[in-house]
Amino acid sequence: MTHTDLVQTATAAARDASDALRATTPAERAALLEAIATEIEADRAAIIAAAVAESHLPEGRITGEVGRTTGQLRLFAGVVRAGDHLGVRIDPALPERSPLPRPDLRQRMVPLGPVAVFGASNFPLAFSTAGGDTASALAAGCPVVVKGHPAHPETAALVATAVARAVAASGLPAGVFTLLDSRETGTGYEVGEALVADPAITAVGFTGSRAGGLALAAVAARRPAPIPVYAEMSSVNPVVVLPGALTGGGEAVEALATAYVGSLTLGAGQFCTNPGLLFLPTGEAGDAFLAAAARAVGDATGARMLTPGIAQAYGRGVETVGALDGVDVVATGSAAGDEAPAPALVTAGADAPDTAFEEVFGAFGVVVRYDSADDLAPRIEAMEGQLTATVHCDAEDEGDVRAARVLLPALERRVGRILFNGWPTGVEVGHAMVHGGPFPATTDARTTSVGSRAIERFQRPVCYQDVPAALLPDALRDDNPWGLVRRVDGELELPR
Ligand code: NAP
Repeated sequence: MTHTDLVQTATAAARDASDALRATTPAERAALLEAIATEIEADRAAIIAAAVAESHLPEGRITGEVGRTTGQLRLFAGVVRAGDHLGVRIDPALPERSPLPRPDLRQRMVPLGPVAVFGASNFPLAFSTAGGDTASALAAGCPVVVKGHPAHPETAALVATAVARAVAASGLPAGVFTLLDSRETGTGYEVGEALVADPAITAVGFTGSRAGGLALAAVAARRPAPIPVYAEMSSVNPVVVLPGALTGGGEAVEALATAYVGSLTLGAGQFCTNPGLLFLPTGEAGDAFLAAAARAVGDATGARMLTPGIAQAYGRGVETVGALDGVDVVATGSAAGDEAPAPALVTAGADAPDTAFEEVFGAFGVVVRYDSADDLAPRIEAMEGQLTATVHCDAEDEGDVRAARVLLPALERRVGRILFNGWPTGVEVGHAMVHGGPFPATTDARTTSVGSRAIERFQRPVCYQDVPAALLPDALRDDNPWGLVRRVDGELELPR
Protein backbone atom coordinates (compact mmCIF):
# COMPACT_ATOMS: atom_id res chain seq x y z
CA MET A 1 0.00 0.00 0.00
CA THR A 2 1.15 3.55 -0.63
CA HIS A 3 1.35 5.93 2.29
CA THR A 4 -1.84 7.60 1.01
CA ASP A 5 -3.68 4.26 1.14
CA LEU A 6 -2.35 3.58 4.65
CA VAL A 7 -3.51 6.99 5.88
CA GLN A 8 -6.93 6.66 4.24
CA THR A 9 -7.47 3.13 5.55
CA ALA A 10 -6.59 4.25 9.08
CA THR A 11 -8.77 7.37 9.02
CA ALA A 12 -11.73 5.53 7.48
CA ALA A 13 -11.50 2.87 10.21
CA ALA A 14 -11.30 5.61 12.85
CA ARG A 15 -14.36 7.37 11.40
CA ASP A 16 -16.28 4.08 11.31
CA ALA A 17 -15.33 3.36 14.94
CA SER A 18 -16.41 6.78 16.19
CA ASP A 19 -20.02 5.94 17.01
CA ALA A 20 -19.14 2.78 18.92
CA LEU A 21 -16.58 4.62 21.06
CA ARG A 22 -18.87 7.61 21.55
CA ALA A 23 -21.65 5.29 22.74
CA THR A 24 -19.58 3.73 25.55
CA THR A 25 -20.70 4.42 29.11
CA PRO A 26 -18.21 6.09 31.46
CA ALA A 27 -17.55 2.69 33.05
CA GLU A 28 -16.85 1.04 29.69
CA ARG A 29 -14.56 3.82 28.49
CA ALA A 30 -12.69 3.89 31.78
CA ALA A 31 -12.28 0.10 31.57
CA LEU A 32 -10.78 0.47 28.09
CA LEU A 33 -8.18 2.96 29.36
CA GLU A 34 -7.33 0.71 32.28
CA ALA A 35 -7.08 -2.31 29.99
CA ILE A 36 -4.60 -0.45 27.78
CA ALA A 37 -2.48 0.29 30.87
CA THR A 38 -2.63 -3.37 31.92
CA GLU A 39 -1.68 -4.61 28.43
CA ILE A 40 1.29 -2.21 28.30
CA GLU A 41 2.42 -3.54 31.67
CA ALA A 42 2.15 -7.11 30.35
CA ASP A 43 4.71 -6.25 27.64
CA ARG A 44 6.73 -3.98 29.89
CA ALA A 45 10.09 -5.76 29.53
CA ALA A 46 10.00 -5.84 25.72
CA ILE A 47 8.77 -2.25 25.51
CA ILE A 48 11.51 -1.00 27.84
CA ALA A 49 14.21 -2.89 25.92
CA ALA A 50 13.04 -1.48 22.59
CA ALA A 51 12.70 2.09 23.91
CA VAL A 52 16.16 2.04 25.51
CA ALA A 53 17.72 0.70 22.30
CA GLU A 54 15.93 3.19 20.05
CA SER A 55 16.04 6.36 22.15
CA HIS A 56 19.43 5.87 23.87
CA LEU A 57 17.77 7.10 27.05
CA PRO A 58 18.79 5.28 30.25
CA GLU A 59 16.72 2.31 31.41
CA GLY A 60 15.74 4.08 34.64
CA ARG A 61 14.28 6.98 32.72
CA ILE A 62 12.37 4.68 30.33
CA THR A 63 11.10 2.57 33.22
CA GLY A 64 9.77 5.75 34.79
CA GLU A 65 8.12 6.64 31.51
CA VAL A 66 6.24 3.33 31.44
CA GLY A 67 4.86 4.18 34.89
CA ARG A 68 3.95 7.66 33.73
CA THR A 69 2.21 6.30 30.63
CA THR A 70 0.12 3.75 32.50
CA GLY A 71 -0.45 6.27 35.30
CA GLN A 72 -1.93 8.84 32.95
CA LEU A 73 -4.16 6.24 31.28
CA ARG A 74 -5.51 5.39 34.74
CA LEU A 75 -5.81 9.06 35.64
CA PHE A 76 -8.06 9.57 32.61
CA ALA A 77 -10.05 6.46 33.56
CA GLY A 78 -10.77 8.19 36.87
CA VAL A 79 -11.71 11.41 35.09
CA VAL A 80 -14.13 9.57 32.78
CA ARG A 81 -15.75 7.76 35.72
CA ALA A 82 -16.16 11.00 37.68
CA GLY A 83 -17.81 12.50 34.58
CA ASP A 84 -17.34 16.21 35.31
CA HIS A 85 -15.57 16.56 31.93
CA LEU A 86 -19.05 16.17 30.40
CA GLY A 87 -19.91 19.59 31.84
CA VAL A 88 -23.61 18.83 32.22
CA ARG A 89 -25.85 21.88 32.54
CA ILE A 90 -29.61 21.77 32.75
CA ASP A 91 -31.85 24.85 32.57
CA PRO A 92 -35.32 23.37 33.18
CA ALA A 93 -38.22 24.74 31.16
CA LEU A 94 -40.09 27.75 32.58
CA PRO A 95 -43.37 27.57 30.64
CA GLU A 96 -44.99 30.26 32.79
CA ARG A 97 -42.15 32.75 32.50
CA SER A 98 -43.24 36.15 31.30
CA PRO A 99 -42.94 37.76 28.83
CA LEU A 100 -41.43 34.66 27.17
CA PRO A 101 -41.44 31.07 28.40
CA ARG A 102 -38.03 29.37 28.68
CA PRO A 103 -37.54 26.10 26.79
CA ASP A 104 -35.92 23.06 28.44
CA LEU A 105 -32.17 23.43 27.71
CA ARG A 106 -29.56 20.77 28.42
CA GLN A 107 -25.88 20.85 27.54
CA ARG A 108 -23.11 18.28 27.55
CA MET A 109 -19.71 17.88 25.93
CA VAL A 110 -19.40 15.39 23.07
CA PRO A 111 -16.28 13.94 21.44
CA LEU A 112 -14.98 15.76 18.35
CA GLY A 113 -14.25 12.61 16.33
CA PRO A 114 -11.02 10.98 15.11
CA VAL A 115 -7.83 12.63 16.40
CA ALA A 116 -4.39 12.51 14.75
CA VAL A 117 -1.52 12.20 17.24
CA PHE A 118 2.12 12.87 16.36
CA GLY A 119 4.38 10.86 18.65
CA ALA A 120 7.27 12.85 20.14
CA SER A 121 10.88 11.79 19.76
CA ASN A 122 11.93 12.79 23.28
CA PHE A 123 9.27 10.82 25.16
CA PRO A 124 8.99 7.52 23.25
CA LEU A 125 6.26 6.35 25.63
CA ALA A 126 4.62 9.12 27.65
CA PHE A 127 4.23 11.57 24.72
CA SER A 128 4.03 9.01 21.98
CA THR A 129 1.88 6.08 20.83
CA ALA A 130 -0.23 5.63 23.99
CA GLY A 131 0.94 8.85 25.63
CA GLY A 132 -0.95 11.84 26.97
CA ASP A 133 -2.52 12.95 23.67
CA THR A 134 -3.80 9.44 22.91
CA ALA A 135 -5.05 8.86 26.47
CA SER A 136 -6.91 12.18 26.58
CA ALA A 137 -8.43 11.71 23.11
CA LEU A 138 -9.66 8.19 23.90
CA ALA A 139 -10.98 9.42 27.26
CA ALA A 140 -12.95 12.10 25.42
CA GLY A 141 -14.37 9.34 23.18
CA CYS A 142 -12.27 10.07 20.07
CA PRO A 143 -10.63 7.31 18.00
CA VAL A 144 -6.92 7.93 17.49
CA VAL A 145 -4.60 7.60 14.51
CA VAL A 146 -0.97 7.92 15.61
CA LYS A 147 1.72 9.02 13.18
CA GLY A 148 4.56 7.01 14.67
CA HIS A 149 7.84 8.85 15.18
CA PRO A 150 10.58 7.26 13.03
CA ALA A 151 13.04 7.54 15.93
CA HIS A 152 11.32 4.68 17.83
CA PRO A 153 9.34 2.46 15.41
CA GLU A 154 9.74 -0.81 17.32
CA THR A 155 8.65 0.78 20.61
CA ALA A 156 5.65 2.29 18.86
CA ALA A 157 4.69 -1.05 17.29
CA LEU A 158 4.93 -2.91 20.61
CA VAL A 159 2.78 -0.32 22.39
CA ALA A 160 0.29 -0.33 19.51
CA THR A 161 -0.05 -4.11 19.77
CA ALA A 162 -0.83 -3.78 23.48
CA VAL A 163 -3.43 -1.09 22.77
CA ALA A 164 -5.00 -3.20 20.01
CA ARG A 165 -5.38 -6.15 22.42
CA ALA A 166 -7.20 -3.93 24.91
CA VAL A 167 -9.47 -2.52 22.20
CA ALA A 168 -10.32 -6.02 20.93
CA ALA A 169 -10.99 -7.34 24.45
CA SER A 170 -13.37 -4.43 25.08
CA GLY A 171 -15.45 -5.45 22.05
CA LEU A 172 -14.82 -2.15 20.26
CA PRO A 173 -13.85 -1.91 16.58
CA ALA A 174 -10.12 -2.01 15.82
CA GLY A 175 -10.37 1.43 14.20
CA VAL A 176 -10.58 2.97 17.70
CA PHE A 177 -6.77 3.03 17.56
CA THR A 178 -4.34 2.79 14.61
CA LEU A 179 -0.60 3.31 14.45
CA LEU A 180 0.83 4.49 11.15
CA ASP A 181 4.11 2.59 11.45
CA SER A 182 6.94 4.65 9.96
CA ARG A 183 8.51 1.41 8.66
CA GLU A 184 5.43 0.92 6.47
CA THR A 185 4.54 4.51 5.59
CA GLY A 186 8.14 5.61 5.13
CA THR A 187 9.26 8.92 6.59
CA GLY A 188 8.66 12.21 4.93
CA TYR A 189 6.31 15.03 5.62
CA GLU A 190 3.69 13.76 3.12
CA VAL A 191 2.40 11.18 5.63
CA GLY A 192 1.77 13.70 8.40
CA GLU A 193 0.37 16.25 5.97
CA ALA A 194 -2.02 13.70 4.43
CA LEU A 195 -3.17 12.67 7.90
CA VAL A 196 -3.90 16.25 9.02
CA ALA A 197 -5.60 17.05 5.69
CA ASP A 198 -7.80 13.94 5.81
CA PRO A 199 -11.48 14.94 6.11
CA ALA A 200 -12.13 12.25 8.76
CA ILE A 201 -9.65 13.84 11.19
CA THR A 202 -11.19 16.40 13.55
CA ALA A 203 -8.23 17.52 15.70
CA VAL A 204 -4.47 17.07 16.03
CA GLY A 205 -2.15 16.55 19.01
CA PHE A 206 1.55 17.24 18.32
CA THR A 207 4.79 17.50 20.26
CA GLY A 208 7.98 18.43 18.43
CA SER A 209 9.65 21.29 16.65
CA ARG A 210 8.24 24.75 16.04
CA ALA A 211 8.72 24.28 12.29
CA GLY A 212 6.84 20.97 12.34
CA GLY A 213 4.00 22.23 14.52
CA LEU A 214 3.53 25.36 12.41
CA ALA A 215 3.66 23.40 9.15
CA LEU A 216 0.93 21.04 10.35
CA ALA A 217 -1.16 23.91 11.75
CA ALA A 218 -0.96 25.53 8.29
CA VAL A 219 -2.15 22.29 6.66
CA ALA A 220 -5.07 22.17 9.11
CA ALA A 221 -5.97 25.80 8.45
CA ARG A 222 -5.97 25.28 4.65
CA ARG A 223 -8.48 22.42 4.80
CA PRO A 224 -11.98 23.14 3.44
CA ALA A 225 -13.07 22.48 7.04
CA PRO A 226 -10.20 23.69 9.26
CA ILE A 227 -9.53 21.80 12.49
CA PRO A 228 -7.69 22.64 15.74
CA VAL A 229 -4.03 21.68 16.06
CA TYR A 230 -2.77 21.39 19.64
CA ALA A 231 0.96 21.64 19.04
CA GLU A 232 3.46 21.80 21.89
CA MET A 233 6.63 23.26 20.41
CA SER A 234 9.50 25.41 21.61
CA SER A 235 10.25 26.98 24.97
CA VAL A 236 13.37 28.20 26.78
CA ASN A 237 11.70 28.14 30.21
CA PRO A 238 13.23 31.20 31.88
CA VAL A 239 14.59 30.90 35.41
CA VAL A 240 14.88 34.07 37.51
CA VAL A 241 17.35 33.96 40.38
CA LEU A 242 16.48 36.80 42.78
CA PRO A 243 19.25 38.19 44.99
CA GLY A 244 17.91 36.59 48.18
CA ALA A 245 18.36 33.11 46.69
CA LEU A 246 22.14 33.70 46.72
CA THR A 247 22.55 35.15 50.21
CA GLY A 248 23.40 31.72 51.71
CA GLY A 249 26.81 32.12 50.01
CA GLY A 250 29.49 29.45 49.51
CA GLU A 251 28.06 25.96 49.56
CA ALA A 252 24.44 27.08 49.15
CA VAL A 253 25.27 28.99 45.95
CA GLU A 254 27.36 26.06 44.69
CA ALA A 255 24.47 23.67 45.39
CA LEU A 256 21.99 25.90 43.57
CA ALA A 257 24.28 26.20 40.53
CA THR A 258 24.90 22.43 40.49
CA ALA A 259 21.15 21.77 40.66
CA TYR A 260 20.63 24.18 37.74
CA VAL A 261 23.20 22.36 35.61
CA GLY A 262 21.65 19.03 36.66
CA SER A 263 18.30 20.18 35.25
CA LEU A 264 19.96 21.71 32.17
CA THR A 265 21.83 18.52 31.24
CA LEU A 266 19.16 15.99 32.32
CA GLY A 267 18.34 13.59 29.47
CA ALA A 268 20.93 15.38 27.27
CA GLY A 269 18.78 18.49 27.71
CA GLN A 270 16.06 16.98 25.52
CA PHE A 271 13.10 18.20 27.53
CA CYS A 272 10.59 20.78 26.40
CA THR A 273 10.88 22.14 29.96
CA ASN A 274 14.69 22.44 29.84
CA PRO A 275 15.80 25.63 31.68
CA GLY A 276 17.51 27.23 28.66
CA LEU A 277 17.57 30.82 29.93
CA LEU A 278 18.59 32.06 33.38
CA PHE A 279 18.47 35.61 34.76
CA LEU A 280 21.18 36.18 37.35
CA PRO A 281 21.97 39.30 39.42
CA THR A 282 25.21 41.12 38.76
CA GLY A 283 27.63 41.30 41.70
CA GLU A 284 29.75 38.87 43.67
CA ALA A 285 27.10 36.33 44.59
CA GLY A 286 25.95 36.12 40.95
CA ASP A 287 29.59 35.76 39.85
CA ALA A 288 30.01 32.87 42.29
CA PHE A 289 26.88 31.17 40.92
CA LEU A 290 28.08 31.58 37.33
CA ALA A 291 31.54 30.25 38.17
CA ALA A 292 30.03 27.19 39.90
CA ALA A 293 27.64 26.57 36.98
CA ALA A 294 30.54 26.91 34.53
CA ARG A 295 32.54 24.32 36.52
CA ALA A 296 29.60 21.91 36.53
CA VAL A 297 29.03 22.30 32.76
CA GLY A 298 32.78 21.97 32.14
CA ASP A 299 32.79 18.69 34.08
CA ALA A 300 29.72 17.32 32.25
CA THR A 301 29.93 14.87 29.36
CA GLY A 302 27.33 14.79 26.60
CA ALA A 303 24.92 11.86 26.46
CA ARG A 304 23.84 10.29 23.18
CA MET A 305 20.96 12.30 21.75
CA LEU A 306 17.73 10.85 20.39
CA THR A 307 18.63 11.00 16.71
CA PRO A 308 21.64 12.07 14.64
CA GLY A 309 19.49 14.90 13.22
CA ILE A 310 18.70 16.25 16.70
CA ALA A 311 22.42 16.06 17.64
CA GLN A 312 23.36 17.95 14.46
CA ALA A 313 20.66 20.59 15.08
CA TYR A 314 22.04 21.03 18.61
CA GLY A 315 25.60 21.45 17.30
CA ARG A 316 24.46 24.05 14.77
CA GLY A 317 22.43 25.90 17.41
CA VAL A 318 25.33 26.10 19.89
CA GLU A 319 27.70 27.31 17.17
CA THR A 320 25.26 29.91 15.85
CA VAL A 321 24.33 31.38 19.23
CA GLY A 322 27.93 31.20 20.49
CA ALA A 323 29.08 33.33 17.54
CA LEU A 324 26.48 36.09 18.02
CA ASP A 325 27.46 39.61 19.09
CA GLY A 326 26.99 40.05 22.82
CA VAL A 327 27.27 36.30 23.51
CA ASP A 328 30.26 34.80 25.37
CA VAL A 329 30.87 31.09 25.79
CA VAL A 330 31.67 30.53 29.48
CA ALA A 331 31.90 26.73 29.59
CA THR A 332 31.83 23.71 27.33
CA GLY A 333 31.73 20.14 28.60
CA SER A 334 33.03 17.06 26.81
CA ALA A 335 31.49 15.36 23.81
CA ALA A 336 31.24 11.58 23.72
CA GLY A 337 31.09 11.18 19.96
CA ASP A 338 29.17 12.95 17.19
CA GLU A 339 25.79 11.95 18.57
CA ALA A 340 26.66 12.95 22.15
CA PRO A 341 27.74 16.59 21.78
CA ALA A 342 29.12 18.65 24.65
CA PRO A 343 26.84 20.61 27.01
CA ALA A 344 27.50 24.34 26.82
CA LEU A 345 26.85 27.52 28.81
CA VAL A 346 26.98 31.10 27.48
CA THR A 347 26.22 34.57 28.76
CA ALA A 348 24.20 37.00 26.64
CA GLY A 349 24.38 40.75 27.13
CA ALA A 350 21.76 43.41 26.54
CA ASP A 351 23.11 43.88 23.00
CA ALA A 352 22.60 40.21 22.02
CA PRO A 353 20.05 39.70 19.19
CA ASP A 354 16.73 37.88 19.75
CA THR A 355 18.10 34.69 18.19
CA ALA A 356 20.28 34.25 21.30
CA PHE A 357 17.11 33.54 23.26
CA GLU A 358 15.49 30.96 20.99
CA GLU A 359 15.37 27.28 21.92
CA VAL A 360 18.44 25.18 21.18
CA PHE A 361 17.09 21.70 21.90
CA GLY A 362 19.67 20.05 24.15
CA ALA A 363 21.96 20.81 27.10
CA PHE A 364 22.54 24.48 26.26
CA GLY A 365 22.11 27.31 28.76
CA VAL A 366 22.04 31.07 28.26
CA VAL A 367 22.67 33.29 31.30
CA VAL A 368 21.60 36.95 31.33
CA ARG A 369 22.88 39.22 34.10
CA TYR A 370 20.65 41.97 35.51
CA ASP A 371 21.43 44.99 37.69
CA SER A 372 18.01 45.60 39.18
CA ALA A 373 15.05 43.30 39.80
CA ASP A 374 12.92 46.16 38.39
CA ASP A 375 14.27 45.28 34.92
CA LEU A 376 12.95 41.72 35.06
CA ALA A 377 9.20 42.13 34.51
CA PRO A 378 9.59 44.18 31.28
CA ARG A 379 12.19 41.67 30.10
CA ILE A 380 9.80 38.77 30.73
CA GLU A 381 6.92 40.65 29.08
CA ALA A 382 9.04 41.10 25.96
CA MET A 383 9.69 37.36 25.67
CA GLU A 384 7.81 34.87 23.52
CA GLY A 385 5.35 32.54 25.24
CA GLN A 386 6.84 29.79 27.40
CA LEU A 387 5.77 26.49 28.94
CA THR A 388 7.29 27.34 32.34
CA ALA A 389 9.03 30.04 34.33
CA THR A 390 10.88 29.49 37.58
CA VAL A 391 11.66 31.95 40.36
CA HIS A 392 14.39 31.27 42.91
CA CYS A 393 14.00 33.53 45.93
CA ASP A 394 14.12 33.77 49.69
CA ALA A 395 10.49 33.92 50.79
CA GLU A 396 11.63 35.72 54.00
CA ASP A 397 13.51 38.42 52.10
CA GLU A 398 11.42 41.57 51.69
CA GLY A 399 13.21 42.64 48.52
CA ASP A 400 12.69 39.25 46.89
CA VAL A 401 9.01 39.13 47.85
CA ARG A 402 8.46 42.62 46.47
CA ALA A 403 10.22 41.71 43.21
CA ALA A 404 8.31 38.42 42.93
CA ARG A 405 4.98 40.25 43.40
CA VAL A 406 5.82 42.45 40.41
CA LEU A 407 7.07 39.48 38.38
CA LEU A 408 4.07 37.22 38.93
CA PRO A 409 1.55 39.05 36.70
CA ALA A 410 4.19 39.31 33.95
CA LEU A 411 4.85 35.58 34.23
CA GLU A 412 1.13 34.79 34.13
CA ARG A 413 0.89 36.60 30.82
CA ARG A 414 3.81 34.73 29.24
CA VAL A 415 3.83 31.17 30.62
CA GLY A 416 1.67 28.13 31.42
CA ARG A 417 3.33 27.00 34.69
CA ILE A 418 5.07 29.14 37.30
CA LEU A 419 7.36 27.39 39.78
CA PHE A 420 9.20 28.64 42.84
CA ASN A 421 12.50 27.31 44.16
CA GLY A 422 12.57 24.20 41.96
CA TRP A 423 13.45 23.19 38.41
CA PRO A 424 11.05 22.90 35.49
CA THR A 425 12.17 19.49 34.19
CA GLY A 426 9.85 16.78 35.51
CA VAL A 427 6.18 17.41 34.79
CA GLU A 428 3.76 15.92 37.29
CA VAL A 429 0.75 14.31 35.62
CA GLY A 430 -2.26 15.35 37.66
CA HIS A 431 -5.40 17.43 37.74
CA ALA A 432 -3.77 20.80 38.43
CA MET A 433 -0.88 20.53 35.93
CA VAL A 434 -0.61 22.88 32.95
CA HIS A 435 1.82 21.91 30.22
CA GLY A 436 0.99 24.65 27.77
CA GLY A 437 1.45 28.35 27.32
CA PRO A 438 1.23 31.20 24.81
CA PHE A 439 2.74 30.84 21.33
CA PRO A 440 5.27 29.51 20.44
CA ALA A 441 5.21 27.23 23.49
CA THR A 442 1.97 25.94 21.98
CA THR A 443 -0.47 26.83 19.24
CA ASP A 444 -3.33 27.15 21.75
CA ALA A 445 -2.67 28.57 25.21
CA ARG A 446 -6.21 27.82 26.43
CA THR A 447 -5.40 24.28 27.36
CA THR A 448 -2.72 21.76 28.37
CA SER A 449 -1.21 18.63 26.88
CA VAL A 450 -0.43 17.06 30.28
CA GLY A 451 -2.92 16.41 33.07
CA SER A 452 -6.61 15.72 33.16
CA ARG A 453 -7.59 19.05 31.59
CA ALA A 454 -6.11 17.76 28.32
CA ILE A 455 -9.41 15.96 27.67
CA GLU A 456 -11.09 19.32 26.99
CA ARG A 457 -9.14 19.69 23.73
CA PHE A 458 -11.09 16.91 22.08
CA GLN A 459 -14.67 17.77 23.05
CA ARG A 460 -17.25 20.35 22.08
CA PRO A 461 -20.53 21.41 23.72
CA VAL A 462 -23.93 20.49 22.30
CA CYS A 463 -27.20 21.97 23.57
CA TYR A 464 -30.41 19.91 23.52
CA GLN A 465 -33.57 22.04 23.46
CA ASP A 466 -36.97 20.54 24.38
CA VAL A 467 -35.75 17.03 23.54
CA PRO A 468 -38.34 14.45 24.73
CA ALA A 469 -37.20 12.65 27.89
CA ALA A 470 -37.14 9.27 26.14
CA LEU A 471 -34.66 10.60 23.58
CA LEU A 472 -32.27 12.35 25.96
CA PRO A 473 -28.73 10.99 26.29
CA ASP A 474 -28.16 9.24 29.64
CA ALA A 475 -25.83 12.05 30.77
CA LEU A 476 -28.73 14.53 30.55
CA ARG A 477 -31.57 12.51 32.03
CA ASP A 478 -33.37 13.97 35.05
CA ASP A 479 -32.65 10.88 37.15
CA ASN A 480 -28.87 11.27 36.50
CA PRO A 481 -28.14 7.54 36.02
CA TRP A 482 -24.37 8.16 35.74
CA GLY A 483 -24.26 10.14 38.99
CA LEU A 484 -22.72 13.21 37.33
CA VAL A 485 -21.86 16.59 38.79
CA ARG A 486 -24.36 18.96 37.12
CA ARG A 487 -25.26 22.64 37.08
CA VAL A 488 -29.05 22.61 37.37
CA ASP A 489 -30.79 25.97 36.96
CA GLY A 490 -27.46 27.59 37.69
CA GLU A 491 -26.82 25.70 40.94
CA LEU A 492 -23.97 23.21 41.21
CA GLU A 493 -25.37 19.78 42.13
CA LEU A 494 -23.07 17.07 43.46
CA PRO A 495 -24.04 13.41 42.93
CA ARG A 496 -25.52 11.71 45.99
P1 NAP B 1 9.87 17.25 14.45
O1 NAP B 1 10.91 17.40 13.43
O2 NAP B 1 8.97 18.40 14.67
O3 NAP B 1 9.00 15.97 14.06
C1 NAP B 1 7.90 15.55 14.85
C2 NAP B 1 6.91 14.82 13.97
O4 NAP B 1 6.28 15.75 13.10
C3 NAP B 1 7.53 13.76 13.10
O5 NAP B 1 6.63 12.68 13.01
C4 NAP B 1 7.68 14.45 11.76
O6 NAP B 1 7.57 13.56 10.69
C5 NAP B 1 6.49 15.38 11.74
N1 NAP B 1 6.78 16.59 10.99
C6 NAP B 1 7.75 17.50 11.27
N2 NAP B 1 7.70 18.50 10.40
C7 NAP B 1 6.68 18.24 9.56
C8 NAP B 1 6.15 18.92 8.42
N3 NAP B 1 6.66 20.07 8.00
N4 NAP B 1 5.11 18.36 7.80
C9 NAP B 1 4.60 17.19 8.21
N5 NAP B 1 5.08 16.49 9.26
C10 NAP B 1 6.10 17.02 9.93
O7 NAP B 1 10.46 16.89 15.86
P2 NAP B 1 11.55 15.79 16.28
O8 NAP B 1 11.87 14.88 15.16
O9 NAP B 1 11.04 15.18 17.50
O10 NAP B 1 12.82 16.62 16.69
C11 NAP B 1 13.37 17.62 15.89
C12 NAP B 1 13.42 18.92 16.69
O11 NAP B 1 12.17 19.15 17.35
C13 NAP B 1 14.42 18.98 17.80
O12 NAP B 1 15.70 19.29 17.39
C14 NAP B 1 13.81 20.02 18.70
O13 NAP B 1 14.17 21.29 18.26
C15 NAP B 1 12.35 19.86 18.55
N6 NAP B 1 11.68 19.11 19.64
C16 NAP B 1 11.00 19.82 20.57
C17 NAP B 1 10.33 19.14 21.57
C18 NAP B 1 9.55 19.87 22.60
O14 NAP B 1 9.14 19.23 23.54
N7 NAP B 1 9.28 21.14 22.48
C19 NAP B 1 10.32 17.77 21.63
C20 NAP B 1 11.02 17.07 20.64
C21 NAP B 1 11.66 17.76 19.66
P3 NAP B 1 8.86 12.78 10.08
O15 NAP B 1 9.55 12.16 11.21
O16 NAP B 1 8.28 11.83 9.12
O17 NAP B 1 9.70 13.83 9.43
